[in-house]
Amino acid sequence: MIKRAIIVANWKMNPASLKDAGKLFDSIAKSISNVKKTEVVICPPFIYLERLKKFSKKISLGAQDAFWADAGAFTGEISGEMLYDIGVKYVILGHSERRALGESNIDVNKKVKAAFSSGLRPILCVGESVRDDSHSYFNLVKIQLHECLNGVSKNSISKVIIAYEPVWAISSTINRRDATSTDCQEMAIFIRKILFDKFGSESQKVRVIYGGSANEKDAKDFLSSGGVDGLLVGRASLDAKKFVEIIKIAENLVK
Ligand code: PEP
Repeated sequence: MIKRAIIVANWKMNPASLKDAGKLFDSIAKSISNVKKTEVVICPPFIYLERLKKFSKKISLGAQDAFWADAGAFTGEISGEMLYDIGVKYVILGHSERRALGESNIDVNKKVKAAFSSGLRPILCVGESVRDDSHSYFNLVKIQLHECLNGVSKNSISKVIIAYEPVWAISSTINRRDATSTDCQEMAIFIRKILFDKFGSESQKVRVIYGGSANEKDAKDFLSSGGVDGLLVGRASLDAKKFVEIIKIAENLVK
């Protein structure tokens, strides 16, 4: 059973036109009118955010990144202030695809703090690229959490969502393999322990979610046995039917 379920769509650089984005968003919105207990967030490309807002009050909007400065000479960047101003609530930060382009934990930390200052709630992605027999991936996730959340106050921590995304399970990874709900559960427990040690009892309000090729077939297993409060869904969120099925699975599992 989950207490505060959240299902987040990461559309990445899809779909290719505003018309298709509108159709996808609208068809998801229309199919979830009975969903009451599960928070649904869609993170489309920046350029669609404002136009999609009008389709549904039920779906929260998230961005896929936000820069660490409020304004200024930063060609190509978009600030949290700008996103908040057009009604965006969440922002994915530290996604592995951005880390692969050179983003460090220090960069992510600056973005997390800036997101808070502008009123956005960060969905902080952590996760290892490989799993080795010596279990050093636990230490890697610990370092990601410590460095990315450095300087975040105990008062703010409850607003963060931690997305555990093992890179080896993400659909875009070459030779990917499936993670199991057991892999997810042991890391979710570990993440909650690190947060508790760093932030005390306020950390118990932090939602931990799983991402990595989650789909309508394995959602129930991850949500009921993976120790998480929700899912971050990439590829399957581009198919309205599959994404709605995932939302309804979560809805049925909420206490
Ligand atoms: C992601 O990359 O955030 C993700 C969850 O992707 P997918 O579900 O396609 O693996």
